[in-house]
Amino acid sequence: MRKQIVAGNWKMNNDLAQTEALIAALKKQTKTTDAEVMVAPTATNLWQAYNSLKGVNIEVIAQNMHFAESGAYTGEISAAMLKSIGIETVILGHSERREYFNETDELLAKKVDAALAKGMRVIFCFGEELADRKAGNEETVVGLQIKNALFHLGAADFQNIVLAYEPVWAIGTGETASPEQAQDMHAFIRKTLADKYGSDVADEVSILYGGSVKPANAEEIFSKPDVDGGLIGGAALNADDFFAIVNAF
Ligand code: 13P
Repeated sequence: MRKQIVAGNWKMNNDLAQTEALIAALKKQTKTTDAEVMVAPTATNLWQAYNSLKGVNIEVIAQNMHFAESGAYTGEISAAMLKSIGIETVILGHSERREYFNETDELLAKKVDAALAKGMRVIFCFGEELADRKAGNEETVVGLQIKNALFHLGAADFQNIVLAYEPVWAIGTGETASPEQAQDMHAFIRKTLADKYGSDVADEVSILYGGSVKPANAEEIFSKPDVDGGLIGGAALNADDFFAIVNAF
C-alpha cells in the first residue's frame, strides 16, 4: 500500500515567531487519518521547527537544497547540512525554483542524486504551464520533466521518491485542477513510471497533487485512485485549514 501524504510548503513565509505560533497551533490539531503529515518551513526556521515538533507526528522537511556536499556556493545549503539537523526529506523541482531560480531538469537530476546519496527522501515537483495545457501538451511536458530528471535512477531509488504534480496555472491562483484532470494526469504519471520501471515500482510511488488545494476541495481530489495526497501552499499557513485537508482522506 502506498503512503498517503499531506505536506505543507510554507514557501518564503513566517519569521521565527510566526513559525513558532503556527507550530503551536498545529500541535493542537487532531489527525483522524493515516496520512503522513509534513511541513516545510523556510531554511532559517528548520532547526527550531524540528525541535518543536520532536515527538509529534509531523515531519519537518526542507524546501530546497544544493547538489554539492560543501564548498564555494554562497547562500546554499547541502544535504549533509540538512541531515545534520535531523531533516530527512527535501522538496525539489518546485515550479517557483524552476521559474525564478532557473532550475533545469539537468540541475534537478543532480540535486535528486545528491539527496538520495545521503539517504534522504525527495518530493519531486513538476507540472505544465497554462500555455502547455491550452495547447494540449501537458502530458508531453510532464513526461519529459519526469524522464529528464528521474529516469537515470534505478528502480530501488523510487522507494525514496515521492512525486508531486503541480500544474503551474493552479499554484496560488485559486484555480484548482478538477479532480478528473488531476486523476488523468496522475494515471499518466503512474503509467510513465510503469513503462520504464514496471508496475510494481509505479504502484508503490505516492503521487501528490498541488495547486490551490483547500478544505473545500481536498476530499474530492483525494478520493481519486491515483491521487495519494497533496502538497499544500497557502492553506498550509493556517493550522485549521491544513488539518482539515489532512483529515480529508
Ligand atoms: P497553493 O496551495 O498556494 O496553490 O500552492 C501550491 C504549491 O505550490 C505547493 O508547493
